[in-house]
Amino acid sequence: MINENFLKLQSSYLFSTIASKVKAFKAEHPEVDVISLGIGDVTQPLPQACLEAMHKAVDEMSSSDTFRGYGPEQGYDFLRKAIIENDYIPRGVQLDMDEVFISDGAKSDCGNIGDILDTRCSVGVTDPVYPVYVDSNVMCGRAGDFVDGKWSNITFLPVSAANRFIPALPQEHIDIIYLCYPNNPTGTVLTKEQLAKWVEYAIREKSLILFDAAYEAYIQHDDIPHSIYEIPGAKSCAIELRSYSKTAGFTGIRCGYTVVPKDLGQLNALWNRRQCTKFNGTSYITQRAAEAIYSPEGKQQVRKTIGYYMDNAAFMRGKLTEMGYEVFGGTDAPYIWLKTPEGVTSWEFFDLILHKIGIVTTPGSGFGPSGEGYVRLTAFGRHEDCEKAMERFKEI
Ligand code: PLP
Repeated sequence: MINENFLKLQSSYLFSTIASKVKAFKAEHPEVDVISLGIGDVTQPLPQACLEAMHKAVDEMSSSDTFRGYGPEQGYDFLRKAIIENDYIPRGVQLDMDEVFISDGAKSDCGNIGDILDTRCSVGVTDPVYPVYVDSNVMCGRAGDFVDGKWSNITFLPVSAANRFIPALPQEHIDIIYLCYPNNPTGTVLTKEQLAKWVEYAIREKSLILFDAAYEAYIQHDDIPHSIYEIPGAKSCAIELRSYSKTAGFTGIRCGYTVVPKDLGQLNALWNRRQCTKFNGTSYITQRAAEAIYSPEGKQQVRKTIGYYMDNAAFMRGKLTEMGYEVFGGTDAPYIWLKTPEGVTSWEFFDLILHKIGIVTTPGSGFGPSGEGYVRLTAFGRHEDCEKAMERFKEI
C-alpha cells in the first residue's frame, strides 16, 4: 500500500511547460539570444568570507584533532549564537539558543514542519503561493480533497492589485496560516502594522502562523519587518523560517534555520524531537560558511551582492513603469510582478514576449488562480541582460 495522498497532488506543469516552450522556440530561432527573467536561482558567486571559512573548515577535517563527524541535530552553537546576535537582538528580539534550529534550507523545513501538527488542522495560504506550502499539506492528507479546482481543507486568501496585495483576514477560523514576506512570487511586502493584524488574529483564534522570511535580506525600507517577532506577541503564535539561499547565494550550499519559540508550548520540544529522529544536521563546513555571513567582511559582501540584484530590480521597475506597465514588488524583494495588458492572460503574455522579443518570464497563473493576469520577472540575472531585456520590451 502506498500513501495515496501523493496521488491527489496536482501536477505542476509550470516549470516543465516553460522549459519545453523555450526549447521549442530556441530550436526554431537559433539566432535569438534568449534572456531569462524567469529563473528563481541566484547567479552571483558566494561571498569571499564564506569561501574562506569553508576552506578553513575543510582543512580542519584533515586532522584527527580538529575533525568533526556528526554534529548536533539542532546546529552548532557558534551559528545559533551568531543568528541571535545578528538577526534578532538588533531588532529588539530576544531568543534562547534552543529556539533556533539550523536546517539544510527553508524548503525542507516548510515541508517538514507539518510533521508536528495534527492532520485535521485547517490551512490558509495567500494566493498566488509558493507551491511547497500546498503540496506538503496534500502529501500528509491535511489539504483534504481537490474538488472543483479547490482543496477542501485549504483556504486561499487572494492577493492582487485589487487589494493592493494585502491579504484580508479570514472570516472564519484557520488553524495554520502560511505567510511569506517579502513575498514570492509577487515581490510585495507587509508593513509592521499590516503584519500586526495577522498576529492579533492568530492570538485571538489560537492559530499558528508559519512565517517564511526567505527574502528578508532584500528589505530596503525601515517600516518593513524582517522578522515576525518584531511584532509584540508573535512568539506565542508564530514559527519563522529563514534561508541563506537568496541572502548569500547558498542555493547549492544548502543552509537555513527555523525559529520555534518556547512560548508555543509543546511545539519547540516536538520539533526538537522530530529533528533528532529524522535529521542528522547540516554539515559543519556549511555552518562555518553561514557563520561567516555575519563577519564584518561577510556582511559587506552580502550587502554588495544584494545591492546588485536590487539595482536590477529598480532598473527594470523604472523602465517598465516608463513604458506604461503596471508593476508591483521589486522594492523590497528580488521579484517584479507585472500586470499583463488588459484581456491578455499570463500564458498569452508569456508566449507573446518569448516569441516577439526572446524573453522568458514566469506566468503568474502557475502560482495560483489569483496570479492570472500577471507574470513574474526576477532580478537575479546579470545587469547587462536586464538592460538588453528592457530595450527589447520597448518593441512590443
Ligand atoms: N521559501 C520561499 C518563499 C522560496 O521562494 C524558496 C526558494 O525559492 C524557499 C523557501 C526555499 O529556500 P531554500 O533554498 O532555503 O530551500
